[in-house]
Amino acid sequence: MHYGAHATESLMYITNRPDLVFERGEGSWLYDHQGKKYLDFIQGWAVNCLGHCPPEITQALTAQAAKLINPSPAFYNGPMIELAGLLTDNSCFDRVFFANTGAEANEGAIKLARKWGRLNRDGAYEIITFGHSFHGRTLATMSASGKAGWDTIYAPQVSGFPKAPYNDIAAVDALIGPKTVAVMLEPVQGEGGVIPAQVEFLQALRELTRARGILLIVDEVQTGMGRTGKLFGYQHAGIVPDIMTLGKGIGGGVPLAALLAREDICCFEPGDQGGTYNGNPLMTAVGVAVLKRLLSAGFLDDVTARGEYLSRRLLALSAKHGLAGERGVGLLRALILADERGPQIVQRALEQMPVGLLLNAPRPNLLRFMPALNVSETEIDQMIAMLDALLAG
Ligand SMILES: *Cc1c(COP(=O)(O)O)cnc(C)c1O
Repeated sequence: MHYGAHATESLMYITNRPDLVFERGEGSWLYDHQGKKYLDFIQGWAVNCLGHCPPEITQALTAQAAKLINPSPAFYNGPMIELAGLLTDNSCFDRVFFANTGAEANEGAIKLARKWGRLNRDGAYEIITFGHSFHGRTLATMSASGKAGWDTIYAPQVSGFPKAPYNDIAAVDALIGPKTVAVMLEPVQGEGGVIPAQVEFLQALRELTRARGILLIVDEVQTGMGRTGKLFGYQHAGIVPDIMTLGKGIGGGVPLAALLAREDICCFEPGDQGGTYNGNPLMTAVGVAVLKRLLSAGFLDDVTARGEYLSRRLLALSAKHGLAGERGVGLLRALILADERGPQIVQRALEQMPVGLLLNAPRPNLLRFMPALNVSETEIDQMIAMLDALLAG
């Protein structure tokens, strides 16, 4: 395909993109090069937590861009300090390192745990992770992930990531040995198919890791920043993890991520950790604007209410079409199909005229919904009506 004077073939082929170019976005809506409108229930993969081009982000970006873009990570800047303070004030963590992507934040978590193990657990370095987990696309985070096929695609893997079945505390217990330094998990497995960890499992995991003297790391790249109706997913279980990573929603659409840890875990020394763009004021200014909105009165209650509304509407749709129900937490939900029509429905939803619908099928029998956290009930109704017609067709 051509766009203007250029061929799309100049881009390295990594995925099958549809023959259209998105030019503009507003709230829950995207517009392509032919002016066609799409209702967006993907939102950049749970990234645009306030929808497309929200005024807070546009203003934060333009104001900061006119003031200071990059003094260097070797110096403090105002937005970096403010965002770190807001995050530690509103979580159980004491210190923050900013990164650019979820994978990079997870790499930092792995390094911090390994350093802590070298200092405190006789060089222990293994981090127990889970089947079907997703932690990113760098070599170490691919090795940590439990995605089928990822163990061989770029072999050899980074070693030290034994896998347990999710929600199986006895299996984790059995894997803990002298080399184990931590357990790392997503409070809801997002890419794995929207599979929530049971509250009792998270609580038992915290007790077990504390009793065995190892760390608990939560990867909240997808579940953090209000996605589940609480600011962070771990809060549903009332536990206090040692390390947390954030990404996606923290930047509301711009590249920003974070590694957070409790004070007694923080053992990096100068030279151990860094990155050219870490804490740059352009992105952290956006993070401040996003987090202030999430913390505004009633915002998270509204996420919970709209999550419950979406859940009810999906259950009704499931009953009407003889599907297998729905699951999820807050505004991270999945409709469980009775067959493997997921990819076909996603394709037909995109192509639907005159208005398209953007959905995702993380598994062939599953449709995933990750709308903007400020999606309206009317927009949920519109999505359900479109999906209803697609399921009938
Ligand atoms: C998306 C995701 C990542 C990777 O984030 P990137 O910004 O793509 O590197 C890591 N962990 C979880 C749970 C995710 O959903």
